[in-house]
Amino acid sequence: MARYTGPSCRLCRREGEKLFLKGDRCYSDKCALSRRESVPGAAGNRRTKVSNYGLQLREKQKVKRYYGLLEKQFRDTYDKAEKMTGITGENLLSLLERRLDNVVYRLGYGASRKEARQLVSHGHFLVNGKKVNIPSIRLNVGDVITVKEKSNSSAKFKELAEKAATTPKWLEGNAEKLEGKLIALPVREDIDLPIEEHLIIELYSK
Ligand code: SF4
Repeated sequence: MARYTGPSCRLCRREGEKLFLKGDRCYSDKCALSRRESVPGAAGNRRTKVSNYGLQLREKQKVKRYYGLLEKQFRDTYDKAEKMTGITGENLLSLLERRLDNVVYRLGYGASRKEARQLVSHGHFLVNGKKVNIPSIRLNVGDVITVKEKSNSSAKFKELAEKAATTPKWLEGNAEKLEGKLIALPVREDIDLPIEEHLIIELYSK
């Protein structure tokens, strides 16, 4: 599946806020946004009034970038969210949270969603005992994610096994066993990202 391969910090600068795409670096003073706040490109320093459409577009771009999705994948997820019962915006975020790469990140196995996606692609995880290397797979309540036996002796996973990560309440993590379980569907209040999902709905409803 296609993905963005350009510089991550450029995306934060474009959105004008931290998207936390590079793990520990994002929390340090090496963060590019802390050092340089203008948007990339020649027009970066020009002040312009943002239209409603502009606000809606930026919100959609921001969410795509949080989860590392390109337009087609994002639009497909939106279409699925729209067909579900309930509030489309909340459904959308819940579907995005349940992607395997995001769950791996939320369990603390990757410092960023980008790293988690790479770990999944490299086949380090089992879902319900079966090797899975597709980051976009959507998990359901009861699914168990385990670090593959061959991988859990690597320095990275050994280190993780020694410190318990804080997981959201819809996930149950077992650091010692390098295992996690989805115990509930994530709801809006569980998702700690500053997203105004109604703007995305307005954009796609035009
Ligand atoms: Fe964004 Fe992280 Fe780069 Fe800072 S260091 S600009 S938060 S990706």
